[in-house]
Amino acid sequence: MRLSQMLFVTLREDPAEAEIPSHKLLLRAGYIRRVASGVYAYLPLMWRVLQKVSQIVREEMNAAGAQECLLPQLQPAELWRESGRWDTYTKAEGIMFALVDRQEREMGLGPTHEEVITAIARDMIRSYRQLPINLYQIQTKFRDEIRPRFGLMRGREFIMKDAYSFDADEAGMKLTYQKMDQAYRNILRRSGVVFRAVEADSGTIGGSGSQEFMVLADAGEDEILYTEDGQYAANVEKATSLPPEAEPSPFKNYEKRETPGTETIEQLCKFLKCPASCVVKNVLYQAVYDNGMTVLVLVSIRGDQDVNEVKLQNELVKRAGNYSAKTVLALTVPDAAAQEKWAAKPLPLGYMAPNLADSYIKPAKPAPVGRQAAGRVAPKFLRLVDKTAVDLKNFVTGADESGYHVVGANWGKEFQLPDMVDVRKATAGDRAIHDPQQRLQTARGIEIGHIFQLGTKYSAALGATYTNEQGEDVPLVMGCYGVGVSRLAQAAVEQSHDKDGIIWPVAIAPYQAIVVIPNVSDTDQVQAAETLYQQLNQAGIETLLDDRNERAGVKFKDADLVGIPFRIVTGKSLKDGKVEVVKRATRETQELPLEKVVSTLSQWIAGEEGDGVNR
Ligand code: ATP
Ligand code: MG
Repeated sequence: MRLSQMLFVTLREDPAEAEIPSHKLLLRAGYIRRVASGVYAYLPLMWRVLQKVSQIVREEMNAAGAQECLLPQLQPAELWRESGRWDTYTKAEGIMFALVDRQEREMGLGPTHEEVITAIARDMIRSYRQLPINLYQIQTKFRDEIRPRFGLMRGREFIMKDAYSFDADEAGMKLTYQKMDQAYRNILRRSGVVFRAVEADSGTIGGSGSQEFMVLADAGEDEILYTEDGQYAANVEKATSLPPEAEPSPFKNYEKRETPGTETIEQLCKFLKCPASCVVKNVLYQAVYDNGMTVLVLVSIRGDQDVNEVKLQNELVKRAGNYSAKTVLALTVPDAAAQEKWAAKPLPLGYMAPNLADSYIKPAKPAPVGRQAAGRVAPKFLRLVDKTAVDLKNFVTGADESGYHVVGANWGKEFQLPDMVDVRKATAGDRAIHDPQQRLQTARGIEIGHIFQLGTKYSAALGATYTNEQGEDVPLVMGCYGVGVSRLAQAAVEQSHDKDGIIWPVAIAPYQAIVVIPNVSDTDQVQAAETLYQQLNQAGIETLLDDRNERAGVKFKDADLVGIPFRIVTGKSLKDGKVEVVKRATRETQELPLEKVVSTLSQWIAGEEGDGVNR
């Protein structure tokens, strides 16, 4: 392609809308344009990158035995009602764009395709003889993200590869899952990014496991905890570790103490001269269940530890049945305005005890018939104690009175032990469970893929069953597997750039080479460049020709910015039958005889592809 004929517009200045390097560079180099919040046009260079990523994904999916298809983006509400996700996806999480057509039918734009694919499997898979089946598609997804940002990283319209597998049993599903795991590693390695596979939260879906694939980058929204020995890596949402040993409490007797100005653990420990690990702190949360019921949750945890809200949410979902609900829609720390709605009197914030009286909750008004749960507040606190606080003796905790704490307290004496849970947040520096000599390290990652053992959640809900060898009708056992194609393309830039621009991994670069003519009025330069341009393209090396009537400096700057791996300059050494060849990544420069250019580049390209690293 000739730059003189391309829509090729680069910007010298960083666009104000962009915060992270990859977003700035893709905008500056003319790869993408913002059309609306979280909605981008993929311009010709970007589209080539996306097609390359898609092709790698496609090859690895096919190699793993999956089959490509294309499912509708417009999806009927009924299917989502069958799975029970219509309300949560259109209202609570609000991530699905929903619409009403001219026949008053409700529809949604696909944020994901479990419902559609399961309905198809229900109709078409009848017998164990048809199994296993794994279908995938590469398609634009729509999600009304509340905070679209960082360009393609979190868009409201983005490209995803999603695959769904159907197996006869758990063992089959695990085998498919392993194949997908390997395929994902291959995809990331071939795309030339540094990544790590981590244990992930399977959340409310349950199932026996899920893994995320993280591209390591400081701008990543996820925190990863891992050990140096390579034996453990998990998303912080899911991570477990050994808490530090608790220090003994200096208090021997139960006593109420005046402790003014000690709302925080730090202030309290300073005032009482005691370690944080002998304090039981009581953290108040507000959970809203899917039937509208609000439950106030009091979590007692050791003072030096924090609550992992993802783990807490999972615990609360397990208890949904106690409130005639199915799932939790929102979990928050109630602010003053939220407290006003249900608090009968001001709470002793900073001084709450594990037995904070239920009378702090306003008594419920009688509810209209049929709407018992909606807008109601459970009349009692749900009291939970984290494992870390269970064995504490003679601990310090709030006295339920502002300005006062109690010391020397014990479970079973002054306080009843609440329901025990494991909701502690693992943090960097903790000892690893598999080997306490290993300490957890922290890194930031961009979630590129997520593979999931779904089990029978959707097949059971939609009645997607098959007849097994014994002649029984049983639900299909499913897995689902997503890769953010557009997110991956940008993540590669986030990981690989310098002050001058993008450094594309060869395998996903829009073009592999660019021939730059420093002076277009020099016919020797033009001729040599035209010949090289033709030869390279003929040899299958995708090559750009910068034949614009611009200064050499501008062309070099643009070539750096756009990040094409190899640059060939028909400059001064042409008189000796040579051209300058520059590697974008290292800036290594060589003079090559004209006739050696094609063979040398072919070698370099073959050697550089798929140099990703699994850390
Ligand atoms: P996140 O936690 O980042 O919102 P998710 O858990 O919602 O991601 P999945 O539903 O598992 O993601 O989607 C599969 C993949 O699609 C993700 O791993 C990610 O790479 C990509 N993805 C998800 N949401 C977006 C988005 N808004 N913009 C771009 N890519 C996305
Ligand atoms: Mg999401």
